[in-house]
Amino acid sequence: MGMMEGKRGIILGVANERSIAWAIAEACAREGAQLGFTFFGETMEKRVRPLAEKVGGVFCCPCDATDDADVQAVIDEAAKHWDGIDFIVHSIAYAKKEELRGKFYDTSKEGFETAMISSAYTMVNLCRSAAPMLTEGASIVTLSYLGAERVLPHYNVMGVAKAALEACVRYLAVDLGPRNIRVNAISAGPIKTLAAAGIGDFKEILNWNRDNSPMRRNVTQQEVAETALMLLGPGGSAITGETLHVDCGYHVVGMRAVPEED
Ligand code: NAD
Repeated sequence: MGMMEGKRGIILGVANERSIAWAIAEACAREGAQLGFTFFGETMEKRVRPLAEKVGGVFCCPCDATDDADVQAVIDEAAKHWDGIDFIVHSIAYAKKEELRGKFYDTSKEGFETAMISSAYTMVNLCRSAAPMLTEGASIVTLSYLGAERVLPHYNVMGVAKAALEACVRYLAVDLGPRNIRVNAISAGPIKTLAAAGIGDFKEILNWNRDNSPMRRNVTQQEVAETALMLLGPGGSAITGETLHVDCGYHVVGMRAVPEED
């Protein structure tokens, strides 16, 4: 029997088979979970629906996470199929491409607001809307990045939004903790996905992380997914309000690592 047998969860943020959310969905399905999916925009529907079907998705509905009514509609859809929600994966972020290069102080007011609402507030709104349906022992996971803690090239306003997201995780953990509902973030190392393609010089960031992380390689979607599974399942039963780094140890390196002798 899989560790997620009988668990019902919503996965937000699948864009294609490279998405971190998709790797998490595959891992949850493998362990026996029932899944509901959302997609953002018509063009995404063509990609997400077949993926959802592949893992026997119970529903697959549109959702602009910045739209309160859309988020409520997802919860209402879940209520048609299930009498509770056991887990949620929030794997959503957005900033305008032009904000992810150049000087941080050139961030526009509108660009700041867009990144904050799309990447941090959506998590708050999602938790509030889902709260009445969340079961005792439920678990919520979101995705963050090291740019929340450190200045990383080109990450700019997204770093600020991820810092806000990680703070939101702590406040949400306190709100939901008394009901034995856990809220955590995974700070993933860089992975080549659609969202990452918007970050300036992303290839260079990948190479830098590979060459300077203690493990001398980059993380995979599947490795992030296995950590998400742990947090969503029984393995994470006493972990909440946390941001776990899944980045081959890159975050512990304070300067360019000395090349190996051998
Ligand atoms: P991705 O492009 O596959 O996923 C991003 C998703 O966000 C897409 O499905 C997109 O449709 C969705 N989205 C954006 N705005 C939305 C909105 N308003 N409503 C609903 N959905 C919306 O890329 P990914 O790399 O899998 O990104 C998933 C998460 O992982 C993001 O939060 C990202 O910041 C985070 N992350 C990515 C990396 C990386 O290097 N790829 C590293 C650390 C953290």
